[in-house]
Amino acid sequence: MSESARQEIRFEGVGVSPGMACSKIHVVRDDLDDVVRYRIAPSQIPDEIGRFETALIQTRMQILEMQQRIAESIGAKDAAIFDAHLLVVEDRTLIDEVLRKLETDLCNVEWVFQEVATRYAETLNKIDDPYLRERALDIQDVTKRVIRNLQGKAPKTFLALSEQHILIAHNLTPSDTASINRANVLGIATDVGSRTSHAAILARSLNIPAVVGLHDITAKLETGQHVLVDGSDGLLIIDPAPETVAHYAEIESRRAVVAAQLKELRTTRSTTRDGHHIVLSANIELPEDVEAVAANGAEGIGLYRTEFLYLNRTSLPTEHEQFETYRRVAERLRPDPLIIRTFDLGGDKLAPGTVDIADELNPFLGWRAIRLCLEHIDIFKTQLRAILRASAVGNIKIMFPMISGLEELRRAKAVLAECKDELRRSGIPFGKEIEVGAMIEIPSAAICANALAPEVDFFSIGTNDLIQYTLAVDRVNEKLAHLYEPTHPAILRLLKMIAEAAHANHIWVGVCGEMAGDVALIPLLLGLEETLKLNTASEILARCLELADKRYGDLLG
Ligand code: PEP
Ligand code: MG
Repeated sequence: MSESARQEIRFEGVGVSPGMACSKIHVVRDDLDDVVRYRIAPSQIPDEIGRFETALIQTRMQILEMQQRIAESIGAKDAAIFDAHLLVVEDRTLIDEVLRKLETDLCNVEWVFQEVATRYAETLNKIDDPYLRERALDIQDVTKRVIRNLQGKAPKTFLALSEQHILIAHNLTPSDTASINRANVLGIATDVGSRTSHAAILARSLNIPAVVGLHDITAKLETGQHVLVDGSDGLLIIDPAPETVAHYAEIESRRAVVAAQLKELRTTRSTTRDGHHIVLSANIELPEDVEAVAANGAEGIGLYRTEFLYLNRTSLPTEHEQFETYRRVAERLRPDPLIIRTFDLGGDKLAPGTVDIADELNPFLGWRAIRLCLEHIDIFKTQLRAILRASAVGNIKIMFPMISGLEELRRAKAVLAECKDELRRSGIPFGKEIEVGAMIEIPSAAICANALAPEVDFFSIGTNDLIQYTLAVDRVNEKLAHLYEPTHPAILRLLKMIAEAAHANHIWVGVCGEMAGDVALIPLLLGLEETLKLNTASEILARCLELADKRYGDLLG
């Protein structure tokens, strides 16, 4: 091994979006991590107090400006939430405590302020009172702002960097990932995350190689270092040796050959040797993804995650905007179908500024998707009306996420019926025969599938959530990635139950979770019976790999 090869350092994480990227990095840290502590002389106290007062005034002005912007764009009611933030910058107890501690600790004011504000917020957070917990969040928010002002920092701008780079961050929310500049972000590596986190799913749709679950990688790296990201094997290599780079270049060129072979198959109908046609369609998050769907020969879209329309903005998408978006995507796909899922906000997809979901202890078990829609009927109806109007194009189907049982499904259908009535009365056209489906992604829905099936035109199995809820494995927790097993016998049994309930009621059933995109698992989905006889996840996986190798090993190398 050469000298340079010995110097490279490898970190192992979870590869969530395949491919390789090699470039300089940009490390994004939460600004508060950067607060350093240094001692000051007693004579410097007045200066520190002066800096503190200026930062509080600046913060107050920023909050007022933000409040005004929100009042103009959304309304005074929503802008009022910033009143609580203003109270924090005027809180005498907090300010006096900072001034007192400055004298006793003789440290820089950002350090003292962070200490005092964090303790203050933690105390409020521990009290079992939702109002006080909200105040704790306000304090955390304002603390970041004040410290940023003390440090003379501009607000976070990492998503709009103009140079090409690999993005290194503690975590990326779906809204962060949705707003990154594809042309400049060549790869992604994060401390936390997992294969079915929505940021990972989005990285795959954007074709950005990504590795997550690298623990404290943000603490180990500095902006400007050179790294190689291997999103297939989940590796991050710092200062890769020339041999390593050459090795990866070789893999990339083999990948290009396989991609070219697969390209040849794009227009081939997906029919089994015994003549069974399987509809192979795509998932999209952003309307512009539709171009790649057509280019790759998919038969339409099996899941359009519309919640991405609600992220990164300060006001809700209007009925007209949604109608135009859905219509455009449907027209691009016609005659192939477009299955629009009503928005699934909550869990790891939050839309602060539009739909406020307070911090929850268990967000994936919390106020999410259809649960939220059925309490915010106004927002739900706006979307349903937009989908119905767009369905006049003819190829749109609609499905509801996170259905847990019959009552919920009936309530969602009743709201849909109300929207149809309204449109009918106003003489607005819509597709009268629009198919309605339920996502089966909660074990209770799978177990009651025979009761749900007569109520809908189709089922779509959301395996990402079905696996997380059945195996009690948080889909975004990298520490549990090894327990997240699509081939667990319990999952197979649930898949069988769902398929049988669907077929007994003469409705069709699709799979829209990531499992359906894993070539090794295709034999399992096509020939479930054979693998059902096996008892452990690893036995089943081994059999799947064997079958996959036999059927298309040559092609995939
Ligand atoms: C699923 O849960 O499998 C699914 C397709 O929905 P999402 O990944 O958006 O939760
Ligand atoms: Mg889901």
